[in-house]
Amino acid sequence: VMASFEAFIPVPASALHLEKNLEAGTRILEIIEAEPEVRQTTKPDPLPATHDIAFRNVSFSYPGSSVPVLDDISFRVKEGERIAIVGPSGAGKSTIASLLLGFYPPSSGTITSGGKAIERLDADLLRRSIATVSQETYLFADTIRQNLLLANPEATDDMLKAALSRAGLPHFRERLDTWAGQHGMQLSGGERQRLAITRAILQDAPVMLLDEATANLDRITEREVMEKLFRISGMKTLLSITHRLQDMDAFDRILVLEGGNIAESGSHEELMAAKGTYSAMWELQNRSRPALLE
Ligand code: ADP
Ligand code: MG
Repeated sequence: VMASFEAFIPVPASALHLEKNLEAGTRILEIIEAEPEVRQTTKPDPLPATHDIAFRNVSFSYPGSSVPVLDDISFRVKEGERIAIVGPSGAGKSTIASLLLGFYPPSSGTITSGGKAIERLDADLLRRSIATVSQETYLFADTIRQNLLLANPEATDDMLKAALSRAGLPHFRERLDTWAGQHGMQLSGGERQRLAITRAILQDAPVMLLDEATANLDRITEREVMEKLFRISGMKTLLSITHRLQDMDAFDRILVLEGGNIAESGSHEELMAAKGTYSAMWELQNRSRPALLE
C-alpha cells in the first residue's frame, strides 16, 4: 500500500476515530498500516536545529514503474525563504512533497533537512517539522476539538480558540464540542480550508508545505486564505506548490517544474522578463482571454 502525503496528519494511530466508508479514512488507515517506504536506521539522528531543505540530483520513479517522474532535480530552500513550485498538472510537484515527507526514497540523489539525509531522521519527527496543508482537509467523525487536537494533542482550549481566530474562524470558538465529519456540521470549502490552517497553526512547525492548498476555493476566498497562510507562516520556511499563478511576487523564488525538470527558476519579475515558460503560463492565467467561442 502506498502512502500519499496528501492524507497525512501527524497523529498516533490510537488517537484516530475514523469515519467508516470514507475514502479519506481508508487512506489514513492505509498510511498508518503501510510500512515506511523510506528505510529507517535503527537509531535515528536527532532532528537538526535548522531546517534548510536541499534536493541534490534527485531522480525518482514510482515503485514498479520505469517512468522517471523527477529527473535530476536540485534545489535548496533556506530557512525563512518563501518558495513556490509551479508547473502544469503531472509535472511532478506533489511527488516532490511526498519525497520531502519521506513517503518514498529517491531512486537516486539525496534529500536533506538541516544538512542531514532525511532517511537518517525519525520519520514522525521529520513530518512534525513540516506543517502540511493540501487541497483536501480530512475531518474525522468527532468534535471540532478532537479534530484540532490531532495537530497538537497538548493544546489547551484557549490555544485552540486563539488558533481558530487567527485562521479566520472566530465563530468556531464556541463550537469546540460540535460534531464535524460524517453526520456533523456542514462546512463550506473555505471553512474546511481554514480548519486545515488552524491545524497548521497548532502544529507550529518550522516549515509550512502547501500543495494546491487553495485550489478548490473561489478566487476571493483563495486570496483570504492565502493571506492567512502567509501571515501565519511569518518568518518560517514556506514551500507552496501550485498551478495557479496568483500573487506570485510574494515569493522569494519560483521553481518552474516541467516534465520532472526544473525548467526555470527566479523571482516573479525575473521569470516574467525571461519570457519563457513561466511568463507564458502567467499571461495565459492572468490576462484577459479571448472568448472561448466566437
Ligand atoms: P503534479 O503534482 O505536478 O500534478 P504529480 O507529482 O502528482 O504531479 O505526478 C507526476 C507524475 O507521477 C504523473 O505522471 C503521475 O501520473 C505520476 N504519479 C503520481 N502519483 C503516482 C503514484 N502513486 N504511482 C504512480 N505514478 C504516480
Ligand atoms: Mg499535485
